[in-house]
Amino acid sequence: MTVTVRFAPSPTGRIHIGNARTALFNWLFAMNNKGRYIQRFDDTDVVRSTQEFADSILYDLHWLGIFPDVTEYQSRRFEIYDAAVERLKAARVLYACYETPEELDLRRKVRRTRGQPPVYGREALTLTPEQVAEYESDGRRPHWRFLLPNFTSDPLQPERTEVHWNDLVRGEETVDLASLSDPVLVREDGTYLYTLPSVVDDIEMGVTHVIRGDDHVTNTGVQIALFQALGAEPPVFGHHNLLTTVSGEGLSKRTGALSIESLRGDGIEPMAVASLAVLVGTSENVTAAHDLGELAGHFDPAATSKSAAKFDPDELFVLNRALMHHMPFEEARDRLIVLGISGDRAEPFWLAVRGNLDRLSDAVAWWRILSDGPQEAAEFSGEDRDFLHQAFDLLPEEPWNGTVWKDWTGKIREATGRKGKPLFMPLRLALTGRSSGPELADLLPLMGREGTLARRP
Ligand code: GLU
Repeated sequence: MTVTVRFAPSPTGRIHIGNARTALFNWLFAMNNKGRYIQRFDDTDVVRSTQEFADSILYDLHWLGIFPDVTEYQSRRFEIYDAAVERLKAARVLYACYETPEELDLRRKVRRTRGQPPVYGREALTLTPEQVAEYESDGRRPHWRFLLPNFTSDPLQPERTEVHWNDLVRGEETVDLASLSDPVLVREDGTYLYTLPSVVDDIEMGVTHVIRGDDHVTNTGVQIALFQALGAEPPVFGHHNLLTTVSGEGLSKRTGALSIESLRGDGIEPMAVASLAVLVGTSENVTAAHDLGELAGHFDPAATSKSAAKFDPDELFVLNRALMHHMPFEEARDRLIVLGISGDRAEPFWLAVRGNLDRLSDAVAWWRILSDGPQEAAEFSGEDRDFLHQAFDLLPEEPWNGTVWKDWTGKIREATGRKGKPLFMPLRLALTGRSSGPELADLLPLMGREGTLARRP
């Protein structure tokens, strides 16, 4: 069977790096298994979900290099879920409940004081037809619960019932169905909670592997029971650890913190985001992979830690610099053109500056420095000014060859007796206006003799 995975966010906000981790785990798993990747939008909450958010999620995924084989929207599939509801009702494993949230709350409190687990006691199963009729005539609408298979013959006598699965990430997992409340699948107003549409779609779409955050581990016990109630073989499950901020807080789509959009805006490369999103919180070293194919080679779900992974945005810049440092000109060329960097000098310029960039757009400042001169004139002491006058007088005539910088500074050293920092720093400041930056040996030929002389203080 073709390996089929899905990434199933609710389109209720922009995705963040933690969501990207889930998407990439699925994508890389599909890549490594020659599988299919379904982009599924869990948008049954039609009030909070929007097409704009779905589109923005697709955009962010494309930016990361994820191109789904299929895109599906749950909001277009209600009839399929309605049919599944009818099947579950016919099998008598979906039952109507009339409690209000306040009544449920009170019951939970009573159970706690009696030392019983605060799970739903299935009181709705004991309602007489008269009681049901009374509720209905009072205008109450039922919500519908799935009867968990945690009893032998009497649902009011649940027994420990273990559901096991071999998790791709966590290994052997067990959930006791007697420790859970029968989940509500359909609300009073007929809308669906996430559980049923998710399982129905996983069945209908032939999903073989469900890879998602470990906040869903308990759901999996319920969902396995639901797969079985719908006559389907459950897929393989994998639950990866979640990312938190450095201070340990969870990430939320709502706050926009560490959204893919904001990282893109900060000039972070997609592969820096992808590399960190995938490798943080695993036993692999976090290094910048050049493309998703390379990252797939480092990806092993079983190498993921079980505890939450702290995510430090500063690490993104470390990876970004590493990517810049090695980026071939061919890869940068078009993006540089967009930034106004083109022509014969573009390639040697790129090779000269890439090792000094935090982000690609920082190249613009260096291009300006080379084309128009230092953006801020440096202040020099009288002594340094005299030194520089002497130095600029020694600038070799053109044509220049690859050793012009060495030749020039050799002459300066000889004439002035200066060497090391006292020689190089005033030159760097005069030529670039900055105290650090790319090798001057690489920059000088890009300025040319005339351009260099124009920088004489
Ligand atoms: N919509 C669910 C979520 O975003 C999907 C969970 C799943 O992958 O099953 O948490």
